[in-house]
Amino acid sequence: MITAILQARATSSRLPGKVLKPILGKAMLLHQIERILRAQKIDRLVVATSTEASDDAIEELCEKNKVAVFRGSLEDVLDRFYQAALAHPSDHYLRLTGDCPLTDPSVIDQLIDLHQKGSFDYSSNVEVHTYPDGLDCEIVSSKALEKGWRGAKLKSEREHVTPYFYHHPELFKLGRLKQTPDLSALRWTVDEAEDFEFVTKIYEALYPKNPAFGMEAILDLLNKNESLSKINQRFTRNEGFKKSMKKDLYFERYKKSQVMLERAQKVIPLGSQTFSKSRTQYPSGVSPYFIAKAKGCRVWDVDGNEYIDFVSSLGAITLGHADPDVNQAVADQMREGVIFSLPHPIETRVAEKIVEMVPCAEMVRFGKNGSDATSGAVRLARAYTRRDRVAVCGYHGWQDWYIGSTARSQGVPQAVKDLTHAFVYNDIESLNQVLKKHPDEFACVVMEPMSAQFPKDGFLEKVKELTHQNGALLVFDEVITGFRFSNGGAQEYFGVTPDLATFGKGMANGYPISVIAGKAEYMKLMEEIFFSFTNGGEAISLSAAEATLKKLQTQPVLRQIATQGEQLISGVNKLLEKHSLQEAISISGHPSWALLTFKNAGKYDLNQIKTLFLQEVFAKGILTIGSHNLGYCHREEEIHQLLAAYDEIFSLLKEVVEKGSLDQHLFTQPLVPLFKIR
Ligand code: PMP
Repeated sequence: MITAILQARATSSRLPGKVLKPILGKAMLLHQIERILRAQKIDRLVVATSTEASDDAIEELCEKNKVAVFRGSLEDVLDRFYQAALAHPSDHYLRLTGDCPLTDPSVIDQLIDLHQKGSFDYSSNVEVHTYPDGLDCEIVSSKALEKGWRGAKLKSEREHVTPYFYHHPELFKLGRLKQTPDLSALRWTVDEAEDFEFVTKIYEALYPKNPAFGMEAILDLLNKNESLSKINQRFTRNEGFKKSMKKDLYFERYKKSQVMLERAQKVIPLGSQTFSKSRTQYPSGVSPYFIAKAKGCRVWDVDGNEYIDFVSSLGAITLGHADPDVNQAVADQMREGVIFSLPHPIETRVAEKIVEMVPCAEMVRFGKNGSDATSGAVRLARAYTRRDRVAVCGYHGWQDWYIGSTARSQGVPQAVKDLTHAFVYNDIESLNQVLKKHPDEFACVVMEPMSAQFPKDGFLEKVKELTHQNGALLVFDEVITGFRFSNGGAQEYFGVTPDLATFGKGMANGYPISVIAGKAEYMKLMEEIFFSFTNGGEAISLSAAEATLKKLQTQPVLRQIATQGEQLISGVNKLLEKHSLQEAISISGHPSWALLTFKNAGKYDLNQIKTLFLQEVFAKGILTIGSHNLGYCHREEEIHQLLAAYDEIFSLLKEVVEKGSLDQHLFTQPLVPLFKIR
């Protein structure tokens, strides 16, 4: 007993509803069924479609025409095929797909003949292509089908039903139907609108005179009419399957990450402690989610893939992962104790070092996260000025006073939100407007002295002047720029000294510590306000800070970072020019922290472009989410590797934008942005 199972679905990314489209007034699927039923050696036919509502129309069409239908999984097509087989017990199952309206019954009979005579488990004319694309047929014994259904694990094997059979000749006895001459370059399948046009023309020319026209008649027609084949010549064979195979390779690469993410998400919301390290920034299935270890500028994910790290723990690493000098200082401190019942002298030593290095610093307090420092600075400014309002520019952490001013403000009381006012970088008038609206009500202006753009036309000087004219304090949030732009931070780099400044990230090469520093006149008030927590004087992080700051002072750390960064920026700009991608991508910022910016390009929005960039960049062993947070560990070699990877990726992005072929290359959903700040 042989049952033909014809897979058909109405959803198709390239030509939706194709199987229902009429050719000479009859649905394409019915034409194909008519042809299949002409085969002598099949006993019955079942259409296997999905349970999706979009496939209701297929079921209706079949019922109306008295064709058996089975409905199963849309994605796991192997399961759908297997369940359809169980519902129609047979010795062998012939597999056909609904995109082949030129199916040839005599080819089907030849295949069945070969299969039975050779006692094969699986036979086809697709493992070795010699027939026109669109005359594909495959047959599998019921025993082999069950074995394949149990064994096939890869997504492509489930989606494309039979690769597991022909990829495992050690498990299955394989029969191959071939013919000469090799006609595999001919495209008779229907994936695109042009294919449908081609097939329709064939039907119009042959069907009215001979509804049973076969392969020979089609070849004859094409010989006589060369322009016919040109209609759909530009498409390559089995694009869908090739894409699916490639997708498997990407997904395989991050298998353990994916499993770990699923496990983590059961006990940790988002599976991460930091938005920027979560799946909100790393496209699903094509990204690493967990790092197992790191050394210098190299990191290894849980699947064992190696990367050059340009995220550098969101800028917290300035020297390199597991820096030996920092490790030594930490180990020494650990032997002495971690945290004590009274302050440890190391607090004073590190405070003195910061006073020595940072222009605005006369006194210093420590926190753990950047948010501790910025929130402490705001409280201090409010207490000093006895005013409540705050003007902000940039990102300043997770606390109510700041995050209430962003789109991620759930849980922040309206009364708090109302006190924070954002202004625009390099737009002094925007600050002026904000301050003017509530005269004498602003406690401070908190800003990142620089992010993507350099200050223009004395912007920082003007901000300082305007802030002071309004009786407010100027706070530079140097959580990123501090100990990165120069040893004394952006304030030293640009020569503009604020009243207070906050630091975090790079000051201890990854250990959790942050700083509020400022003029003594203001900092003295710290004795009155409340800024106090158990771990404030934790000595391990302070010892890491001491070792890091010492290295900054004694070795050309930031000079070397800036040199590499300049090379990186000029290299990326050259590549953008080479690939004519300047409209779609740009790079900006300080050399130690250069950022790629993606724009809409062709018919794609920036998130689609960025997601494809990320998919490809991770696959090439580069860890970046668009920023390049350089450390002392990044040398010329790493910059060259980055540029070589970008060269290939930019070439692909250009092709995708030009041809509109994102669909073929992106194996996941585009990212949805969290919020836009910088
Ligand atoms: N300010 C700036 C400029 C930052 O970049 C960050 C962190 N990205 C913060 C403040 C907050 O620091 P944290 O996440 O350590 O609380």
